[in-house]
Amino acid sequence: MAHPSHRIRNITGDGSDGWDLFYRAKDLIRQGVAVTELTIGEHDVKTDPAILDAMHGAAKAGATGYASIPGIPELRAAVAERAQRLTGVPTGPENVIVTPGGQAALFAAHQFVGDPGERALHVDPYYPTYPGTIRAAGLVPVAVTARAEAGFEPTEEDLRAVGPGARSLLVNSPNNPTGVIYSDRTLEAIARVAAEHDLWVISDEVYDSQVWEGRHLSPRALPGMAERTLVVGSLSKSHAMTGSRLGWIIGPPEAADLLWDLSTVSNYGIPGFIQEAGVFALAQGPGYETGIAEPFRRRREITQRLLSGQDVVRAAPQRGAMYAMLDVRATGLTGEGFAMRLLDEERIAVLPGESFGQASAGHVRIAMTVEDRAYEDALARIMVLAQRIAAQRAHFPAEIG
Ligand code: PMP
Repeated sequence: MAHPSHRIRNITGDGSDGWDLFYRAKDLIRQGVAVTELTIGEHDVKTDPAILDAMHGAAKAGATGYASIPGIPELRAAVAERAQRLTGVPTGPENVIVTPGGQAALFAAHQFVGDPGERALHVDPYYPTYPGTIRAAGLVPVAVTARAEAGFEPTEEDLRAVGPGARSLLVNSPNNPTGVIYSDRTLEAIARVAAEHDLWVISDEVYDSQVWEGRHLSPRALPGMAERTLVVGSLSKSHAMTGSRLGWIIGPPEAADLLWDLSTVSNYGIPGFIQEAGVFALAQGPGYETGIAEPFRRRREITQRLLSGQDVVRAAPQRGAMYAMLDVRATGLTGEGFAMRLLDEERIAVLPGESFGQASAGHVRIAMTVEDRAYEDALARIMVLAQRIAAQRAHFPAEIG
């Protein structure tokens, strides 16, 4: 073929994406092997039939033509209302741009914040699309390490060290992959550093309906921050609508206008019947979102209970989102090594911490996405395997190295 751009060839960066394990698990499943899959952040319940009925009804009623490019007014208003209810920040339809999912919102936000060659910050551990999304905009990703020892929250000193010359800082709380929710203190530090270095904060809040402990504070709600924050949201997690690809960016009206230009030349709007289903979904109110989050709340309780019964596997503070980040360093294995043994010996698939950056090396990420009994059984077996390997290591340290 003719020569592709450096930019598109560079999206995945160097080296392996660390997802070998995921593909190996998929292979086993294809061969008919029963594998408990705790890899991907997707609900074990499907989109509510009532939402699908609304989608079908809207399509039948004619919402099949080009839809309003920045989003239909009712959806922009519903998203704005939800944001204002959750954060207290005055928000109207003019602050909202509708996107085909949170991922497209992350993409658009990075197109917005900087020009090719400029630096865009993100936190390590990170959702694996982040560096590629930044590179796709021609920007240079720079990771700020959030250490396990610091509860996977970035420190003000570390943020300040990489701030000069950067255009943006991407943060995600409640966090995938760690399950951590940033403290008010961390968010205030983020706001200070953003103001000092004139950064945009891109705040990925797709897990804002999954809060188990403490509270989720949006950086947009901090003084002066509404002018320099782009909030990324989505119905994927809050309404179990991953396949509908419906998300948004909330920011200053001038930013929404510019992002509208980007939508015109990229997606040209999201299908009207999906947007109307989104309006219906949001009209179900906060109680509905609590219901969708409920299975993860229960499984988080199960996780806490099982963790407290042993002292080999440690865990990141699990305050939100649908994941548990387990520290398996006591086994002497890498996250990848442990995950491979787990797949081979127990037929349980989890993702190595290394897939999410170096800060979560020696960990594995568990997605709490199978029904409660199967989840509890799998988690118990994960802990027994970790205990067995740790005990062998204590007896024969040299052999395991
Ligand atoms: N951000 C984070 C942290 C995620 O975990 C995900 C999906 N797993 C997304 C963004 C993108 O979600 P979607 O495109 O489905 O809205």
